[in-house]
Amino acid sequence: MNDLGGHPDNCIFCRILDGKEEATFLYRNSRVSAFLDIHPLFEGHTLVIPNDHYVDISDVSEESLGEVMKVAQEVSNLMRKNLGAEGINIMHATGRPAGQTIYHFHVHVLPRRTGDDVEFQSWWFSRSHKASREELENLAGKLLRK
Ligand code: 5GP
Ligand code: ZN
Repeated sequence: MNDLGGHPDNCIFCRILDGKEEATFLYRNSRVSAFLDIHPLFEGHTLVIPNDHYVDISDVSEESLGEVMKVAQEVSNLMRKNLGAEGINIMHATGRPAGQTIYHFHVHVLPRRTGDDVEFQSWWFSRSHKASREELENLAGKLLRK
């Protein structure tokens, strides 16, 4: 969040929240908003964002993060009930290598249907390997280093 407590004018999501740019909102309360992605990967692709300007997973407040996930759950339920979604992916990117393009914290809620033609699972398995116990223990030690 910026020190002045207002919304930075150079952030597209803050501009949407301030009504300076259009968006189709599904939900809005004092802490969190959900609106349809302008470039949907799947029909119904929704973004859930905190109303305060946080950049990414590192600085988002615990309260906003919790509220974002709660609303992501509500949106997921709507997708299942009203859009015929059979599954949901919730995705998030922090940083450019992860694919972040808008530096206002958000999660993507993606409605999934059988045969919708995006196969994360086979790609995931083709890229991954079965790790040894030693490898995992070493990594945990590295991650938890003080
Ligand atoms: P990221 O790549 O940062 O994880 O996701 C940013 C998302 O914001 C993209 O899916 C992109 O389509 C969406 N987006 C970018 N600009 C706008 C906009 O002006 N309006 C809406 N509704 N979505 C936007
Ligand atoms: Zn912002």
